[in-house]
Amino acid sequence: MDIRKQLVSYSRNIARRELVLGSSGNISARSGTAMVIKASGTCMETARNADFLTVEIATLRYRHKTLRPSCELRLHAACYRSRPDIACVIHTHPLYATVLASCSIKPVICAPEFMIASGGDVAVIPYICPGTPQLAQRVGSAVRNHPIIYLKNHGLLTVGATIAEAFMRTLIAEQMAKMQVISLMIGKKINSIGRHRKQQLLAATLRR
Ligand SMILES: [Zn+2]
Repeated sequence: MDIRKQLVSYSRNIARRELVLGSSGNISARSGTAMVIKASGTCMETARNADFLTVEIATLRYRHKTLRPSCELRLHAACYRSRPDIACVIHTHPLYATVLASCSIKPVICAPEFMIASGGDVAVIPYICPGTPQLAQRVGSAVRNHPIIYLKNHGLLTVGATIAEAFMRTLIAEQMAKMQVISLMIGKKINSIGRHRKQQLLAATLRR
C-alpha cells in the first residue's frame, strides 16, 4: 500500500483509540533519504493523504508550499538518524503511559508481549519542552537501545521496522501502563516477569 495511505489509516486508528487528542501527536515513515510526516495542525482523526509531506532527514528541507511539517520533525529525524533499521516513528499522548511517566514510575516488564515489544527494557525521559532540539537529541540517543520511550509530562514514542510494528509497540506500551496504573489503584504493586524469565523468553523468541 502507498506510504501515505498507510499513514492515514494508522493515524485514524490512533485517534479512534484515543491515543491522541485534537492535532496532538505525530507519525512518520521513512522513504529513502526522507521521511513522510504529518503536517502541523492536522488532526489524526481526519487526516488525508494530502496532510502528509516529505522532509529530508539529513537537512530537514521540504518543498511544500502550503504545509509545514509537525513541530516534532527534529524528534522524528533524530530517531531515523540513530536507527538506520527503523522505518516508522509514532509519537502519541496516551493517558496511562503519560500518567505513569509523569509520576516518575518506570513501567515494569510485566507480560511476555511487553518483553518482546520492548526488547527487555524501556526508557523514561525527563520533561523537555516539546519541539525543541534538546528533546530530539535526548530521544535520538535513547532510541538506540529502546524502541519504546515514555516521555514525562508529555507522552510516548515508539519506533519500528514497519508502521505496523511501531503501532503495535504503542498499543502494548499503553496497555502495560494501564495494567500498572490499575494495580496501583487497587493498592498492589505489579510484579516484573523477572530477569531469568526475561532471558528465557528472549532466547525462545530468537530461536523462532
Ligand atoms: Zn507531543
